[in-house]
Amino acid sequence: MAKFIQFSPPYISQQEINSVTKVLKSGWLSHGPLTEKFEKEFAKYVKAKFAVSVNSCTSGLFLSLAAINIKPGDEVITTPLTFAATANVVHHLGAKPVFADICEDTYNIDPDKIEEKITRKTKAIIPVHYGGQPCEMNEIAKLAKENNLTIIEDAAHATGSEYEGKMIGSLGNLTCFSFYPTKPITVIEGGMITTNNKKLAERLKILGRHGISRDAWKRYGAKGSWYYEVLEAGYKFNTTDMNSALGLAQLKRLKWFEKKRKEVFDYYQKELMGLDVTTPTIRPNVKTSYHLYPILLESYDRNKFIDEMKTHGIGTSVH
Ligand SMILES: *Cc1c(COP(=O)(O)O)cnc(C)c1O
Repeated sequence: MAKFIQFSPPYISQQEINSVTKVLKSGWLSHGPLTEKFEKEFAKYVKAKFAVSVNSCTSGLFLSLAAINIKPGDEVITTPLTFAATANVVHHLGAKPVFADICEDTYNIDPDKIEEKITRKTKAIIPVHYGGQPCEMNEIAKLAKENNLTIIEDAAHATGSEYEGKMIGSLGNLTCFSFYPTKPITVIEGGMITTNNKKLAERLKILGRHGISRDAWKRYGAKGSWYYEVLEAGYKFNTTDMNSALGLAQLKRLKWFEKKRKEVFDYYQKELMGLDVTTPTIRPNVKTSYHLYPILLESYDRNKFIDEMKTHGIGTSVH
């Protein structure tokens, strides 16, 4: 049998291996100058004013909710068609995840259904850009404004995606990206939060780094001062220079990754046409990252289909 085709394998070249080796030999391993550089480069790429690195997108979503003071009794509206992390973090803060149904063409959260779920307890909306296709952000932003809600975009699939000509990461209050190995770029485990709000960016940094007012590497460096204050009981969600070295190398390849993924996407669209499956619909006002190629099975049993694909040497995933 031919080689098994793994679901969404990472692409790591010698360049990534060299960057990581350099960090391992450098004497500074955790959060440091490369992490700050990765934050700056990522913010520039997605055209956001600020980017705050975290050790996963899950941590990023949790931290974003914590930074806007989500607490027990609050409600957060999100989509039922997502990875477990999106709703888990709401639950962990003692708040209630409320599910609004999806659009039939894009599988993204439906703004009309969000509106039906808004109550006096609603504090935030977490739209998920499913498969890399952005949600209808104008409509969601309008609802958020009218009801005084914060939007936290789950952009785990959407590094490089655009909504009406604007980069995902540049639009909302807070946007969380994932760099897990199956995602558009990877640092192994890691994530990024972008925002255009300086106060929020500062709060995310402090809250995600033990509630301490200064970064460790600035304290321990030659020019650092020993002085710091613990401002609140924070979390340890920082990433490392080793992961950031990977991230910097991967970010340089993102355009090329996108081109490759689009080729595969277009090939599937062409070859699956006319078969008894529903292929993805991409709306004309967005650019997708082509992260996933979801198909809807009308008359096959899903589990049987996955097993059949496996016997043909093709890996798939349920999302
Ligand atoms: C992967 C994923 C996450 C979590 O990302 P991690 O970096 O693994 O924590 C969150 N939301 C969605 C939609 C995802 O696919």
